Amino acid sequence: MERTLVLIKPDGVQRGLVGEIIKRFENTGLKIVGMKMVYADEKRASKHYTDDESWLKSVGEKTLKSAEKRGIKMDRTALEQGKWIRELLMSYLTMSPLVALVLEGNEAVGKVRLITGPTNPQEAPPGTIRGDFSVDSYQLGDQLERPIQNLIHASENPKEAEREIKVWFNKEELHFFKRVDEDLIYRKGKKE
Ligand code: ADP
Repeated sequence: MERTLVLIKPDGVQRGLVGEIIKRFENTGLKIVGMKMVYADEKRASKHYTDDESWLKSVGEKTLKSAEKRGIKMDRTALEQGKWIRELLMSYLTMSPLVALVLEGNEAVGKVRLITGPTNPQEAPPGTIRGDFSVDSYQLGDQLERPIQNLIHASENPKEAEREIKVWFNKEELHFFKRVDEDLIYRKGKKE
């Protein structure tokens, strides 16, 4: 059983998509074990989007590749680009309240990423949250000098999920209970 962190980012909350987004995750059988509305400050945002060099590089590299695809050669290194994006992310995450969720279930991390869709909404297929509810793109983000407003954050892997959950929730805020469909979802096939 895995747990993962989802943030419905400020644009998702401002657009009134909280219910729609939660519904999509909940419908799969994933269980909400933590949920709250938070007005994040800089400190919390910087704990979430860490100053970790390999993460900064990977975010930067994705951006450079996307620019290359559009025929644009950027004069920054991946690390410089990553640092720039992190700065932008700080003000995006703190601009208005967000909704933080912890979801639990079979292979929850990967399933949530799949439902969320890729970083760039213009490349996100219909049926995904980013594909269905956002027209944003790397290009628009660059042009307006802000991060891509893609509605959701979803942990990338189980290790990250564990770290990120601790940034937003303490132990008492994570709950143990049974969904009524759990016996069916995790039913054993063998006859008693
Ligand atoms: P994801 O959220 O899909 O896991 P990343 O971890 O790579 O994506 O990036 C974190 C967030 O930073 C993205 O969701 C997006 O809001 C923003 N972002 C990433 N790359 C860029 C970029 N090149 N320009 C603007 N915003 C970006």
